[in-house]
Amino acid sequence: MMDYEIVIGLEVHCQLLTQTKIFCGCSTDFGNPPNHNTCPVCTGMPGALPVLNRKVVDFAIRAGLATGCEITRNSVFARKNYFYPDLPKGYQISQFELPICLAGHLDIEVEGGVKRIGITRIHMEEDAGKLVHPEYSGGVSYVDYNRACVPLLEIVSEPDMRSSAEAVAYLKALREIMVYLGITDGNMEEGSFRCDANISLRRWGAPHFGIRAELKNMNSFRNVQRAIDYEVERQRDILDGGGQVVQETRLWNVERGVTMPMRGKEEAHDYRYFPDPDLLPVVIEEAWIAGIRAGLPELPAAKRRRFAAAYGLSEADIEVLTAERAMADFFEAAVGFFPQPKPVANWIMAELLKFINEDKITIEKCPITPEGLARLLRLIEDGAISGKIAKQVFARMYAEADNDPLRLVEEEGLGQISDSAELAKLVDELVAANQDKVAEYRAGKVKMFGFFVGQVMKKTGGQANPQMVNELLKERIG
Ligand SMILES: [Zn+2]
Repeated sequence: MMDYEIVIGLEVHCQLLTQTKIFCGCSTDFGNPPNHNTCPVCTGMPGALPVLNRKVVDFAIRAGLATGCEITRNSVFARKNYFYPDLPKGYQISQFELPICLAGHLDIEVEGGVKRIGITRIHMEEDAGKLVHPEYSGGVSYVDYNRACVPLLEIVSEPDMRSSAEAVAYLKALREIMVYLGITDGNMEEGSFRCDANISLRRWGAPHFGIRAELKNMNSFRNVQRAIDYEVERQRDILDGGGQVVQETRLWNVERGVTMPMRGKEEAHDYRYFPDPDLLPVVIEEAWIAGIRAGLPELPAAKRRRFAAAYGLSEADIEVLTAERAMADFFEAAVGFFPQPKPVANWIMAELLKFINEDKITIEKCPITPEGLARLLRLIEDGAISGKIAKQVFARMYAEADNDPLRLVEEEGLGQISDSAELAKLVDELVAANQDKVAEYRAGKVKMFGFFVGQVMKKTGGQANPQMVNELLKERIG
């Protein structure tokens, strides 16, 4: 890619975690029978009037403040007209000329440092319903309006990205912030966080952007990367051959790994927006913004800086621990009970994550509490159990509701054997029974020491205090 500069802008649709839809009281629950969550408003019955859900505005302001946007005091809803059965009104209620957030930015990590990507605007809108085309329906199509009128934020970036890697970094950072803010679940596979990309190429030094194509239908970070890379190659081939890129909407075909022209409603770009006469302008008082600003959580970048300063953990550890807000909260709560960041971090990353990932549950659902983990680490620290036994205890803590580690250790008789007389007896028996190996050790075969340690651990089911075993052995054969 030497001859051209790649220019990428992203439009992200982010489904909001409200209980009810944006303009009616219907539930936003996912997975209900078709048309279960509907009413005259979201099915566009004549005369039904939309009423704006205040929570949606709260969430939009949150998103705007977290990305450095200016919050407009008067924003207006518009009708975006298109004729397609997924929205029975014949138009989508969106914001057009006067969106709620303007001129923000997001900093991303790129090779060689931090790059600031501009955010042009964030606006509120309703989602459309879903058309279903069953294979054996004799050409009949069905429509499910459960999703119609579900609230979305559309977040539009400036065309500031110069590679697929930058686009993915931006998307990851944006998703992370929106999930931290608690305004979306960020689930890309279920479509609650989805993105379209505008891509064009221009010769270095050329004054204007090239003609762009819009890419849709990318439902994972990997697919975003692949689709953009494919599209860049496709446009370069056209330009190298002396041709012209056509401005169009293209769909990413995952199976074939290609982008293809899209047919349908999205081709018609002449939407003819006009202000929605049923909805008043959204007027936002200073106090509303101030209240939301005061309630903003610590954002990922700030949290990472604080973790580095406060806990002295490695960048890699911090990355894992701050990937989700709940995980970071769990870590900090556990450190509150057991103020040794490194072991707490290690146990979360090695043991806890292994269990919850296997069960595909979030850390909020984890049966082990921060305090429980801290108590377990205290038992190791006090020498009551070995690290190896602690892993067994941890597994039982995870599996049981009544999971106090001390009780489990006592009940299972898992406590560490630190009784020197008992251990000394064991060591003496072993030494007596293995005189040949003692001789080998004394003749210089140092590995034999490990054999004796291993035997003691085996005889005690891993419960012997390893340090005491080492000392006793050194006394006897060293
Ligand atoms: Zn409704």
